[in-house]
Amino acid sequence: MSTKQSEEGKTRLTFEELPEWIYKCPWCSSCQGLYKTQWPNQTYDPVCPIMDVIEYESGTPGGLLWLIRGGLEGLVPWDTRTLEHLYSCSTCKLCELQCYGDHAEHITDIIVTTRERLIEDGNVLPKVRDFLENVRKHGNPWGEAKSKRGDWAKGISEAKAYKPDVEFLYYVGCEGSYDPVGQRMARSLAELLAEAKVSFGILGNEEECDGNEVRLLGEVGLFKMLSQKNIEKFSKLGVKKVVTLCHRTRITHLRTNIHSLGRSCITPNCF
Ligand code: SF4
Ligand code: SF4
Repeated sequence: MSTKQSEEGKTRLTFEELPEWIYKCPWCSSCQGLYKTQWPNQTYDPVCPIMDVIEYESGTPGGLLWLIRGGLEGLVPWDTRTLEHLYSCSTCKLCELQCYGDHAEHITDIIVTTRERLIEDGNVLPKVRDFLENVRKHGNPWGEAKSKRGDWAKGISEAKAYKPDVEFLYYVGCEGSYDPVGQRMARSLAELLAEAKVSFGILGNEEECDGNEVRLLGEVGLFKMLSQKNIEKFSKLGVKKVVTLCHRTRITHLRTNIHSLGRSCITPNCF
């Protein structure tokens, strides 16, 4: 099988390979939820988070595959409504654990690869386009000023600019830098590291977006550009170990930027 090598280093499907896998889904709906059948407490727990948002079958994992199938066959147009469905998937991969089909491990790849092709074709949902443009221009999805990126660390004396003589680079990410709840988490982790006497430094306003969401939204070119910037920055600073606030940041950095430099990365809230 001629899979392509992804930016994470693992194999991924090319757009041309989608038909090989997408027709394996019979739309059995097992991926939608988990039945617990111990009588008398029979319950049904939904698995896919988008089912709360999209009240159609196309807002379920199997339904999304059939929507993509319709798009491939030219039976379904990629308009605002269908794109909303395609982008409602958070790529959490829970459906891959539920599905018994041969294609199970490829479900999110199928979704992301379809997004990539649509972006290549210039067919982008306006709010996705705005998100990507904000990352491209301002380095964060909200379009906040780059000069405010390090504001979360104000008042924390231990959160100093990274220097090679400290053990860890503390990579905070966009959410920890700008989102009010994320900022509180970023401060808490910095205080915890200080309390544990771990030597660390931060990048502050010099930190770049890690690009994980950009990659999952299908903008490969922008993701590669952000990765390259991070690799160059880490190399220049002589970063040895990285601790991150967000597990998704860790996934992206670990597999692309940090491992490519032969360095290690940990995150406290990784599951
Ligand atoms: S993705 Fe898997 S579990 Fe979901 S409907 Fe298709 S075959 Fe069934
Ligand atoms: S990966 Fe997407 S489709 Fe699958 S469970 Fe998560 S949100 Fe639903």
